Amino acid sequence: MKSNLIDIPGMTQRLQEIHDTTNALIDEAIARGGQSMGQVPRPIDAIASILGSHVHRAPETLLHGNKGLCTETAIVVPDTDGRHWVQRFTVAHELGHQWLGPTAEEWECNAFAGSILIPSEDVHRELDRRHLNQAATLSRWAYYETCTGVITHLVRRYGVGYNAMIRALADYGWVVNVAPWTSACHGDRLYEEYEHYYRQGRPR
Ligand SMILES: [Zn+2]
Repeated sequence: MKSNLIDIPGMTQRLQEIHDTTNALIDEAIARGGQSMGQVPRPIDAIASILGSHVHRAPETLLHGNKGLCTETAIVVPDTDGRHWVQRFTVAHELGHQWLGPTAEEWECNAFAGSILIPSEDVHRELDRRHLNQAATLSRWAYYETCTGVITHLVRRYGVGYNAMIRALADYGWVVNVAPWTSACHGDRLYEEYEHYYRQGRPR
């Protein structure tokens, strides 16, 4: 592992637990609501609803500067943001607060959101289909994007932003020199680095 990577003891295990939690919740949603609950892009409002949390949209001013809010049985997100993937991530993040409990930290809820919106097995299949099923450097992923648009394909398939997608690739072990399940340690650095390479437009 590169020496500049932060390693927080216990984080890898915690993230694996969060991933197990989201898998169990999707199974529960499928059991109650049918196979469509497991499709991508994840029907996150319907998943929240079937798990007992109604999703409300409210004017941004009512959220007092919060990206989203939740009680035990409701999730509130702003109705003003036209970028649908931001709303989807916020709903999934708030669902994380509900299921991980009051002690859950922000990075844990972000990991929950990434995990429930971007199913790792489906990512594996999509990369297999494109013969891109080997871990690669971030610059190599940027190169693949330039040549094949694979990252854009995945972003659209899962209804997420590029930042969430790059983090998920790293968490699921597709980025060399980044240990699986450690993207939360790196903040937005992974995405910034990827974007830097993408703008350069060539591999190294
Ligand atoms: Zn939060």
